[in-house]
Amino acid sequence: MSWKKNVRLVEPYVAGEQPSDPQIIKLNTNECPYPPAPGVARAAQTLAEESARLRLYPDMNAAPLEEALCLRYGLSRDQIFVGNGSDDVLAMCFLTFFNGEEPIRFPDITYSFYDVWASLYRIPYETAPLTPDFRLRPEDYLPEQAGRRFGGIIFPNPNAPTGVEESQETIERIVAGNPDCVVIVDEAYVDFGAQSALPLIRKYENLLVVQTFSKSRAMAGMRIGYAMGSPALIRFLKDVKFSFNSYTINLPSILLGTEAVRDEAYFQEITGRIVSEREKFQENLRRMGFEFPESKANFVFARHPDIAGEQLFAALRERRICVRHWNRPRIGDYLRITIGTPEQMEAVTRALEEIVRGV
Ligand SMILES: *Cc1c(COP(=O)(O)O)cnc(C)c1O
Repeated sequence: MSWKKNVRLVEPYVAGEQPSDPQIIKLNTNECPYPPAPGVARAAQTLAEESARLRLYPDMNAAPLEEALCLRYGLSRDQIFVGNGSDDVLAMCFLTFFNGEEPIRFPDITYSFYDVWASLYRIPYETAPLTPDFRLRPEDYLPEQAGRRFGGIIFPNPNAPTGVEESQETIERIVAGNPDCVVIVDEAYVDFGAQSALPLIRKYENLLVVQTFSKSRAMAGMRIGYAMGSPALIRFLKDVKFSFNSYTINLPSILLGTEAVRDEAYFQEITGRIVSEREKFQENLRRMGFEFPESKANFVFARHPDIAGEQLFAALRERRICVRHWNRPRIGDYLRITIGTPEQMEAVTRALEEIVRGV
């Protein structure tokens, strides 16, 4: 029993369910409904034939992948950091940049991993409430107006799980107003029609922009994420990574991820399809009386004024449709529904029509 007093106690993050029943329409974890770019399958085939390459450690900086990303985003190698999914990148960022005495700050409704990492690393944190229409209040993130200093700031844009995009003016105000702490913008969903804060990294040394292959590049199973920022930030991030695990990205991820980045046309095609499907789905939801903030992500966060969230979730589940629901203050009546294929969205629309009519 005595060893237990030495254990790091944490309340772990709960990821969305991965149901084993293949009949289930899975719209609960914001994955892409389409396969990755065709070059990815070819690279996997080539690697299968050259499996002897797996004998060796991979490049510590994931060189070909970093280079492909630099080319795509107009960066130099000292402005990019690649990790094992953006969860790995973000966890490394918390460890590297959020070491102050002051609490870090993020919204009350946001990606539910932030408070888990903060607790894991014993980083004090405070949340700032979003407005009733789920917008961020910039003054909550400006030391002079909030009347306090921050050990760091993080928020997704578009936000999760709301899908709301904040303007570049809001983001620049927050970054410019916090030269004494690092501001991380988690852009997991930026490729579905939102504007990226990336151009600002040249102007502000304290800004880090984090993106992922899991949603818009259809590679959640491959685990690739990356951070873009000033050479100073990237150097500190690499120092911490190389003090923790030199090889966070495996060889298949490096090779397959590189191919995904190189196929810009395919990327535009699948993200475009998801955006137009989202617009259509939002129209259908509105027609059925659902309420939701305008989404710029690959999901919609919606509630029906006459039906409790739990009830909606269970009724969809009975019809073998899996969406995400949180039993939490302020959002308990909302469902987060991932945008899937046209067939999947037709099925969920039909199911919702049935449920709404049945009340
Ligand atoms: C999905 C998601 C991530 C994590 O993505 P991975 O790259 O798969 O680890 C990070 N932040 C937000 C807001 C997300 O929704």
